[in-house]
Amino acid sequence: MASASFLSTIGKRLEGKVAIVTGGASGIGEATAKLFSEHGAKVVIADVQDERSNSVSNALGSPSHSIYIHCDVTNEDHVQNAVDRTISTFGKLDIIICNAGISDETKPRIIDNTKEDFERVLSINVTGVFLCMKHAARVMVPARSGCIISTASVSSRVGAAASHAYCSSKHAVLGLTKNLAVELGQFGIRVNCLSPYAMVTPLATKVVGLENEMFETALSMAGNLKGAILRVDDVAKAALFLAGEDSKYISGHNLFIDGGFTVYNPSLGMFKYPES
Ligand code: NAD
Repeated sequence: MASASFLSTIGKRLEGKVAIVTGGASGIGEATAKLFSEHGAKVVIADVQDERSNSVSNALGSPSHSIYIHCDVTNEDHVQNAVDRTISTFGKLDIIICNAGISDETKPRIIDNTKEDFERVLSINVTGVFLCMKHAARVMVPARSGCIISTASVSSRVGAAASHAYCSSKHAVLGLTKNLAVELGQFGIRVNCLSPYAMVTPLATKVVGLENEMFETALSMAGNLKGAILRVDDVAKAALFLAGEDSKYISGHNLFIDGGFTVYNPSLGMFKYPES
């Protein structure tokens, strides 16, 4: 019979890996940072919320396990510094989760949307992801290995789930994912993105303006899959799958964590049981 320590080692799916999580101070990024750390990865939290990030990083362990680097993903010097400090601290970069993002208020009429608001969302959600991908590739290509994962959204496939800017930004993240997966495949580097349905996090609740419980009830009613509620840990588990060996031949993929939301067209109404 295998010993407990042997089992705890083989149960860790990211042992010896080094990961950067942008937007790691909160929500999906925080949950991903925690799960990756539990699975043996050394984790760099890259975010702009200093206090929160430091407390998440400290909770993951000593500086030999996790550090926080202040990094505004729209600032190329910050992103370059985050990657370089990761290398100087932990010796390499195996995984980057390009997750930092914002949402904005949905103004249904395009004429009410301002250029400034549109560009603000795109600068973080798209330019930020582009810069993180670029600087991760800078060190992953010479190493001829690596794994790049971005957080897109159901808005990478369907319209009307969020604002014009947000929907545009998540389609762009998918485009970047596909292009980069093709470019970096020759170096053995995998590039994928995650597309979750909505869940309770500061980003989502701020826009919707509902308390957590009411928000989850509303999401459950609008969602396709009943009897389950999407939480940040579910997205973290999908990130763990894409970051680990179990997905070693998966690249250029958009992994939906949406309970079938994006394949369901409510106007068709087929398969409805009369009693439901
Ligand atoms: P969140 O607000 O909890 O976390 C976002 C994090 O990004 C915060 O810690 C914030 O400080 C950080 N951030 C914002 N701007 C930044 C910048 N310029 N540089 C560095 N960090 C910055 O939100 P979340 O819901 O966990 O969002 C994470 C990602 O998931 C986003 O890309 C979001 O679009 C995506 N997403 C969220 C949902 C949802 O319903 N919550 C659904 C699908 C996709």
